[in-house]
Amino acid sequence: MVSQAWTGTIDPFLKKLCFLSLCHYTSERMFELLKTDAGSKARRGRLTTAHGVIETPVFMPVGTQASVKALDPRELHEMGTQIVLGNTYHLAIRPGMDIMNEAGGLHRFMNWDLPILTDSGGFQVFSLAKIRKIQQDGVEFRSHLDGSPLFLGPKEAMKIQRELGSDIAMAFDQCPNHDAPASEMKETVDRTLRWARLCLEQPRAEGQLVFGIGQGGSNAELREYCAKALCKMDFDGFAIGGVSVGEPEPEMMKAVEYTEPFLPADKARYAMGLGTPAQLVELVARGVDMFDCVLPTRVARNGTAFTKKGTISIKAGYNKRDWNPIEEDCECYACRHFTKAYLRHLLNVDEILGLRMLSVHNSHMFLDLMRNIRLHLDNGTFSEYRREFIAGYTPTLKVLEQRARHAEAQQESPSN
Ligand SMILES: [Zn+2]
Repeated sequence: MVSQAWTGTIDPFLKKLCFLSLCHYTSERMFELLKTDAGSKARRGRLTTAHGVIETPVFMPVGTQASVKALDPRELHEMGTQIVLGNTYHLAIRPGMDIMNEAGGLHRFMNWDLPILTDSGGFQVFSLAKIRKIQQDGVEFRSHLDGSPLFLGPKEAMKIQRELGSDIAMAFDQCPNHDAPASEMKETVDRTLRWARLCLEQPRAEGQLVFGIGQGGSNAELREYCAKALCKMDFDGFAIGGVSVGEPEPEMMKAVEYTEPFLPADKARYAMGLGTPAQLVELVARGVDMFDCVLPTRVARNGTAFTKKGTISIKAGYNKRDWNPIEEDCECYACRHFTKAYLRHLLNVDEILGLRMLSVHNSHMFLDLMRNIRLHLDNGTFSEYRREFIAGYTPTLKVLEQRARHAEAQQESPSN
């Protein structure tokens, strides 16, 4: 009994002490580059945060509203989740920061004891909010829920993230449409840089890391200009923003390729909102360490499963008498316990278990993919793994069409 009471008292103290010592000894080296791949720009790394160490490359399941849709923390732990995402804009609107403060922050509110990254809300202000007025120090807008007036800028976004107590806070940026004219794109980049400086000046939660976000669309000059200016600021990591906003895949890859050469090797790089399994492999090969994407749980709700060969529709008639799991060698709970025939039935009669099990499988698939990538980077076999994975993965028709259009455009104008 004595030892239990003792452990309970000392544990948070020790944790804090260890973290502070680590901060001291590693100085600003929160990210440790362990290995680089000989055949690509892929990197194997380790990021230390207040709630634990993250092995990279890493996939971060998205818990926008303080919950990874349909999955509980026990399941997330079981499938090897290292870090989840929360969202500043959504959580500030509901439940609101008074409730969040009363709960003692986001970790306690959602009972998640590992690292959390919070998006700054910049993306939602520009994608969801109905009426908005951009000002020098932020954006005046109306809530997408009830139209109530709100103001969010660098100071407000950092204050919310400080109160949420996330391990990684994101700078407040402006995310333009991918096809915005060059002059507008430049304005966005300058505003994003101005706001980034302001974000760095704000107080943080204890041990909180802050990442800057680069913009510039698929304009090489603007991406370079933004990345260089951002890297002069003292951020703990860098994100490539303005991707996954409706642009075709080749443009998304370009945005990353135009940014990556200007990012420092000793800090983590995060591509926001990406991507499909094949895109993740290709983005790792382009030097990205961190990813988040709603796809695993979003497509689960349509009855779609991700596999190493591409997506399959579990609802389809041909699965009616399929007594095999979604993927033979998958070790997720759904594949170890249920057949496609059963899951198809659940989805067709709208039983919640069906979409839960598809969410379990899809999330596990993304996490397992990153585990394999890390393993192959450790073993020096990433290039072979990449080649085999891409050869075996069938992209969606939409992605194939985008690639074909891009190849045609390249042939017509090789200088692009
Ligand atoms: Zn599975």
